[in-house]
Amino acid sequence: MSARAYIAIGSNLAEPLKQVIAACDEIANLPKSTLIQKSSLYVSKPLGYEDQPDFVNAVVLVKTELSPHELLSELQSLELLHERVRSFANAPRTLDLDIILFEDLEINDPKLVIPHPRMHERAFVIFPLQEINANISIPHIGDIAKIAKGLDPESAKRITL
Ligand code: ADP
Ligand code: MG
Repeated sequence: MSARAYIAIGSNLAEPLKQVIAACDEIANLPKSTLIQKSSLYVSKPLGYEDQPDFVNAVVLVKTELSPHELLSELQSLELLHERVRSFANAPRTLDLDIILFEDLEINDPKLVIPHPRMHERAFVIFPLQEINANISIPHIGDIAKIAKGLDPESAKRITL
């Protein structure tokens, strides 16, 4: 049984554009998984702790036979591969990989919360997700088009290379 999972990618250190592009390739090579689609790349301002570089963001859709926790563990290994150091909340990072949706599952345990609880407030997640699936509905939150309308279009801008 394979599942569709959406993963949000973010980086703001050590050539973020390269980090995000490399992460897409690495996700494509995860065991028992296939990369189905990837969004454009976006640039966004840091949230929370603002004295740090802009972020590069993207969202990808994978089909996977991994369980949600197995996928989380694979993504955490990729973060380590990118020499991510966990210092403090909202700190700059070479690579952040968050599972935002996993089919229509709702998970709420100490290690994993799906749908990602803050995704609907984040233009850098919602805009690229909308690019991949304009009709998706987020459990308990609503249709993506409506969520996107409430977000500032300047806060995550598509990068044209
Ligand atoms: P954040 O992404 O919020 O900036 P981190 O990347 O440092 O923070 O992740 C902190 C913890 O969040 C991880 O150890 C992981 O167990 C947990 N976590 C909970 N839900 C998710 C999710 N949907 N995707 C990724 N990590 C998650
Ligand atoms: Mg994370």
